[in-house]
Amino acid sequence: MAKRVCLIHYHEIGLKGKNRSTFENFLVSNLRRALRDLPVKDVTRTSGHLLISLSDDEAAIPVAQAALQVPGVARVSIALLCPRDEQQFCDAAVKVLGEAGEFKTFKVHARRSNTDYHLHSLELNRLVGSVLCEAFPDKRVDVHNPDVTVYVNVVQGDVYVYAASQPGVGGLPVGSAGKVVSLLSSGFDSPVATWMVGRRGAICLPIHFSGRPMTADTSEYLCQDLMQALRPSGIIGRLYVVPFGEVQRQISLVVPQSLRIIMYRRMMFAIAERVARLEGAKALVTGESLGQVASQTLENIAAVDEVVSMPVFRPLIGSDKQEIIERAKALGTYDICCETAPDCCTLFMPRRPETHARIDQVHAAWDLFDHDAMIEELLASIEYVDAEGCPSYRPPKELKTFHKTLGPR
Ligand code: ATP
Ligand code: MG
Repeated sequence: MAKRVCLIHYHEIGLKGKNRSTFENFLVSNLRRALRDLPVKDVTRTSGHLLISLSDDEAAIPVAQAALQVPGVARVSIALLCPRDEQQFCDAAVKVLGEAGEFKTFKVHARRSNTDYHLHSLELNRLVGSVLCEAFPDKRVDVHNPDVTVYVNVVQGDVYVYAASQPGVGGLPVGSAGKVVSLLSSGFDSPVATWMVGRRGAICLPIHFSGRPMTADTSEYLCQDLMQALRPSGIIGRLYVVPFGEVQRQISLVVPQSLRIIMYRRMMFAIAERVARLEGAKALVTGESLGQVASQTLENIAAVDEVVSMPVFRPLIGSDKQEIIERAKALGTYDICCETAPDCCTLFMPRRPETHARIDQVHAAWDLFDHDAMIEELLASIEYVDAEGCPSYRPPKELKTFHKTLGPR
């Protein structure tokens, strides 16, 4: 009897040549993790696809929905898996077309990935097409622009038949591109930026600078909620939290008002880079978009970038707010970011921030406080929460060298 399965189609991994199996292995383990609370028997590789076998046929829809959010998944099809028996795969085709909802026209698209089957694709199209025409006499075949396509894939030993297929998030499996440290505020932009880099295969380690002890810790909880919202994608390894309020206060006492934000940002970048080096992460990520606020001008971006020596990715640099908000809504991070929480961004803000900082003035301000000592002090007070949704994340042992408690909060 035909069994219900989910077929995972990938696109870019298929182009990876010799590295393909490494990418496939990442995707298999990421899918197993993402689906572990659902009735899934296994995730296995099968000719050009991944196959999710289910322990409960009814679970196909929730399993497909969860799989769609995993980076590397281009499409998910809910299919019937049957033996190479004409009667059985024709029955399966009738069943899947019957489940396809409202339609007027259809076509059959048969493929044979093993030439050891006696019918070739055109013959298969004809055979299945004629059975469907008989079963659905009021529907028409349209080979150019059909409402529904019934796919019949003959592989080694089996046949997959499906009509329902949905696009996934695409990208590459998390873990295949190494690690990045992502500066996560509780605003709209940085969760989206983090997700975009995660979708390209990077394990993301968000770092949040909270206003504690000068503000409450609400923004830290919002960051944990954001981490939870991004959990289905499996991109987050661990969230770092830096209580930044006291250092901000000290900086605000000694530097010219207009340069405060740049000084805070330089501190954030310097600390993020240190965490990145401990983690073996190779780049930083921010949610900046050109000209959006005072600190995001070309001069100010350069004045901040120069404190670090690793690449800083800004995937949203050319995006408009509206596009970012649309993406945040789709990811489920939008509502969380609507909650206002004071973080370090609202603390000790100048009335008129510099928009075009001069680098000599930036250097003079930077030397007005003992930034090296502050960085060490902040690193020693860093805290973290593990996400447990990213199977390829390995925490660094080196954390022990500066971290007092080591355990999650
Ligand atoms: P977001 O919506 O991400 O908060 P924003 O438009 O509010 O961005 P800024 O506040 O200027 O812009 O922040 C620019 C970027 O700097 C953020 O996208 C984020 O990457 C980083 N950042 C800002 N505040 C913090 C913070 N408190 N902790 C960690 N990173 C931060
Ligand atoms: Mg912000």
